[in-house]
Order: sequence, then structure tokens, then C-alpha cells
Amino acid sequence: MAFNSLLPSIVFQEVPGEITLCFSITGCRVGCKGCHSTDLWNEKHGSPLTNSGFSKWIERYQGLISCVLFFGGEWQADALIEKLQIAKAYGLKTCLYSGEKYVDIAITEQLDFLKTGRWVAELGGLDSPSSNQVFRDLCTGKTLNHLFINPSNNTSLSGAENVAA
Ligand code: SF4
Repeated sequence: MAFNSLLPSIVFQEVPGEITLCFSITGCRVGCKGCHSTDLWNEKHGSPLTNSGFSKWIERYQGLISCVLFFGGEWQADALIEKLQIAKAYGLKTCLYSGEKYVDIAITEQLDFLKTGRWVAELGGLDSPSSNQVFRDLCTGKTLNHLFINPSNNTSLSGAENVAA
């Protein structure tokens, strides 16, 4: 199964301690007020991300990356689960940034990390102590929001808190 994705990029701060290949999936229906990524609302944007195409992206960066991240895609659970299983088969960690508060357990079973919570400007993103958003290590059950806050100057270590979830 396939959903549409923008061109992937390598990111360094969205998943703490990991070098991550990041796919932004189009078709987001969460509709956060003040969303900075409205180009992700139209499911026709981007190109189909087939399983074979996804594997080719991983093989291109194999040895350089340690994790694969999806900005969204939980609205097509089967397509997302297939990609997560492929990533794990390559020995990579997996992460999902979702704007929802809860994510299907069939998806979370395939994840090492999960960010939940819609964008609420007044509360801020993961870099904000008052954020409604939560970043969890699902292997340990621990919340890792503190890793997104720089205690010395209280500036964000992540550029992703209002991107695709
Ligand atoms: S902030 Fe993220 S979850 Fe919210 S509408 Fe925009 S892309 Fe969707």
C-alpha cells in the first residue's frame, strides 16, 4: 500500500540521539490552528511512497542513518505499518510524529519513539515546558520532552514541533 510523501530529508534533532531519515506524509486531517505545514493537508501533494520505493530510500542511506521518522501517515495505518516493518527489518529504529492524542496500538507496536499531540500555539511545541505535545521512548515508557529544551537559554533543540504534527 502507498500514501504520498514529500521528498525525504535527513534530520538530526527530531529524534534525540539518532540520525534520522524523515518522510512527510500528505493528507493530514488534524487541522491544527496555526499549522505551519498546510502543504501536508492535501493528500495529492507529493509522490506515492511505495514499499519498494521506501526500501530504495533506506538502501541509499544505509550505514548513515539509525532511524526512520514519519511526520504523519497514521490515517493510513496499513501503509504506515508496512513501512515501519520494512525499516525495522533493515535494523533501523522507528518514530512517528502524530498530531493525534492517541495512535492505534497496531502502529505503536512497530515504533520505538512516538510524539503525540496537536499544535497549540499558546502552549508551544516540544521545546516548551507547557506543551501539550509528548515525545515518548516506547521501549522504556519514558517521556523525553526534556531533551528538546536547552536549559542554558531555553531555546528549542528541535525544528519539528510544528511540522507535520
Ligand atoms: S501541525 Fe501537524 S498535525 Fe497539525 S494540522 Fe499541521 S501537519 Fe497536521
